[in-house]
Amino acid sequence: MKPLAIHGGKPVRDRYLPYGRQSINEKDIEAVTNVLTSDFLTTGPAIDQFEQAIANYVGAQYAVSFSNGTAALHAACFAAGIEEGDEVITSPLTFVASSNAALYQGAKVKFADVDLQTFNLDPQSVEKLITDQTKAIIAVDFAGQPCNYEAFQKLAYEYDLTLIEDAAHAIGASYKGRSVGSISDLTMFSFHPVKQMTTGEGGVITTNDAELYRKLLRFRTHGVTRDRKQLLTDEGPWYYEMHELGYNYRLTDMQAALGLSQLKRLNQFIDRRQTIAERYNKAFESLSTVTLPFVSPNVKSSWHLYVIQLNESQLTTDRKTIFEALQKENIGVNVHYIPVYWQPYYQQLGYRKGICPNAERLYQSFITLPLFPSMTDDDVSDVIQAVEKVLKYYEVGDMT
Ligand SMILES: *Cc1c(COP(=O)(O)O)cnc(C)c1O
Repeated sequence: MKPLAIHGGKPVRDRYLPYGRQSINEKDIEAVTNVLTSDFLTTGPAIDQFEQAIANYVGAQYAVSFSNGTAALHAACFAAGIEEGDEVITSPLTFVASSNAALYQGAKVKFADVDLQTFNLDPQSVEKLITDQTKAIIAVDFAGQPCNYEAFQKLAYEYDLTLIEDAAHAIGASYKGRSVGSISDLTMFSFHPVKQMTTGEGGVITTNDAELYRKLLRFRTHGVTRDRKQLLTDEGPWYYEMHELGYNYRLTDMQAALGLSQLKRLNQFIDRRQTIAERYNKAFESLSTVTLPFVSPNVKSSWHLYVIQLNESQLTTDRKTIFEALQKENIGVNVHYIPVYWQPYYQQLGYRKGICPNAERLYQSFITLPLFPSMTDDDVSDVIQAVEKVLKYYEVGDMT
């Protein structure tokens, strides 16, 4: 057996392979440069076109773009009427933005535990946390797999809650044949470069509710409206009114043009992600040292992340050593996510470790493998070879 790179051996590949990256082509570049020489760099026609195209793609009435996914989620919390004294329930197995958005509005966040198979919020665990103060659920479609929306819609209806979906991982996914973006009251997509499609920074909220739509529009532009129908008085054609404390959370036209161009290839991107995930599944199926990602038969995943669990009992070392060994082989592994309430900021707010045992257990066994559409077949082979090499070395009872 060849020595591991971590022990001074030759790495599986010479160049570091990141866990995710954007795919930009000549058409994308042309779309952006066309905007640069046009009349509008912001608040121009590309914004409306992009929003319309996203709404069409996911089958929603309305889409509103924002400067990033986090700003979009903040706007969703505002539109849902979340304020001080309210409680919001979300997953701990997510990026900190999912719960920070509720904190921005002064709400208290409660973390419900996740399902051990899908890694998504467990509806029963959510229901146990609902009180008279609960205003919203922020469900996160982990790795691109939609949550159990039948159960969450039922809870939202019974307890009069707003269902906000953090679909930062899940554009192009579907639940029981329905597109993500058309299911929840408010759905957020992120266009950060590691996501399925990119605008550099950027995000969108989709909704079917006209009132929520108007609130999102105002929030994005300082709480200001120029809509004659919304004005309290009308001093003349120059006149506008600020009705709420909004922000400047606008996307630029260059970004919207990039998004429009990327959207044309989104299905191809997702197909390629799925093909790579299938190759991984096939290659690792027989390894006793790992558990492969489970996809519910009710859903189509859009495969943002490929996350494996290490089976500790089958290994002679810990996750940290295996992580470092894979990095030394030049494979850009990652870990998604550190439970949000483990963060020092949340600890200082009074959250204690141990409140979501499933999320904590999963976090400690997770490793994310590289997955992005422009990976070549050779890149995929390198990842497979490195994982096999490292896990074989640390497998219990293997003396080679
Ligand atoms: C990326 C991401 C966000 C934030 O999106 P940005 O566009 O980076 O602000 C929020 N939630 C999840 C789960 C994410 O992965």
